[in-house]
Amino acid sequence: MPDYAKSAALYERAKKVMPGGCSRNTILRKPHPVYARRGHGCIVTDIEGVDRIDFANNVASLIHGHAHPVIVEGVKRQLDDGSAFTVGTEIEVAYAEQMVARNPGFEMLRFVNSGTEAVMSCLKAARAFTSRPKIAKVEGSYHGLYDYAEVSQTARPENWGNDDAPRSVPVAHGTPQSALDDVVIIPFNDPDRAIAILDRHKDTVAGVLLDLLPHRIGMVPASEAFVQALRTWTQDNGALLIFDEVITFRTSFSGAQQAYTVTPDLTAMGKMIGGGFPVGALAGRADVLDVMNPLNGPARFPHYGTFSANPITMTAGSIAMSLFDEAAVQRLNALGDKTRAGLAEAIRVADVPACVTGKGSMFRIHLKAAAPRSYRDAYVQPDEQRRIAALLDHFFDNCLILVETCSGFLSTPMSQPEIDHLCQTTLDGLRKIKPLM
Ligand code: PMP
Repeated sequence: MPDYAKSAALYERAKKVMPGGCSRNTILRKPHPVYARRGHGCIVTDIEGVDRIDFANNVASLIHGHAHPVIVEGVKRQLDDGSAFTVGTEIEVAYAEQMVARNPGFEMLRFVNSGTEAVMSCLKAARAFTSRPKIAKVEGSYHGLYDYAEVSQTARPENWGNDDAPRSVPVAHGTPQSALDDVVIIPFNDPDRAIAILDRHKDTVAGVLLDLLPHRIGMVPASEAFVQALRTWTQDNGALLIFDEVITFRTSFSGAQQAYTVTPDLTAMGKMIGGGFPVGALAGRADVLDVMNPLNGPARFPHYGTFSANPITMTAGSIAMSLFDEAAVQRLNALGDKTRAGLAEAIRVADVPACVTGKGSMFRIHLKAAAPRSYRDAYVQPDEQRRIAALLDHFFDNCLILVETCSGFLSTPMSQPEIDHLCQTTLDGLRKIKPLM
């Protein structure tokens, strides 16, 4: 391994001009971040010249890994013709048609620039449609940075309140109390408690926001019973059901929702549908999304965005999604099954209290004996955090990049050798940290 002098020096420069030395905390690691020089397929090479297998894929956004040749070629062609216009482009229309064709519940769609913006726009559309102020969300679920969407994402035992009445806990200091008062927090996969809580706000909830496989709650699927209960409650009480599929859209051709009998009113998307470029989208019922339509008088939810649907993102996204067809989804999900089975075997052989969760092309390793059932169950205590940090360092030293929760997201250039390397490295890592467990 090199001495990382270049990365250390770059970080010293970075700290002088950016708070924390970065524009997103995701890149930080101790004693300094590493800096990428290039990425090809599933390999990232840093400025020190070290190659790593990338299981993070820019936090689940690169479904085809780095620099896919067909995407690169398409984007280069579009770059020659301009990168953003104040007038429309044909590729925006074509890509909207392509996405609408992917899911029968997507009657209409608008593109935005990030998952945060997609979730925010869904919530604003729900408020505009229902003329109600509140949103409900699951405790601990990550949905981006919008004030309302982030409430209780980092709730802790000392402030989360009792099980029957979870508190609305702010993430950012200075979040207005009025924002907290307009967010109703429900527990994951607990239909009875969730409905009892929602009932207390039945005339004021505009929409219920749900991630079907919430990464921060342990990457355990929402149960059919939970999703159905929320669907029935929203229908009976004049509220909308909103799925956040910013990450989970990858799990089926039409999104994670394909595995449920329930259709949401709105779906937020992002990450992989940008083909490697910044993106978000909201799709769903035409009558709901009509709140963004300014053609019949002022829109109920006026919506703009300088770079929304820019042709670079549209080109890359459209190619990426064409390549991620039914066959590609199936192949990657089968590789995901093998990955989770291989990791479970490593845990068995290492004989440590750990487990693996996930679905489709996603996995998460937990250093606890049983898969968590809720955010409170998934909550990582300081001791476990230290063991996770040690395991992540081991992955990194053995040339694997994972997401800091010990999660990974496969990309289509991967095949069995990368998975074998991951599983063997996990086994070695678990043996190494076993004395700490
Ligand atoms: N929703 C979910 C489920 C996410 O995982 C994320 C990002 N990790 C977001 C929303 C926000 O997306 P973005 O970072 O593109 O704003």
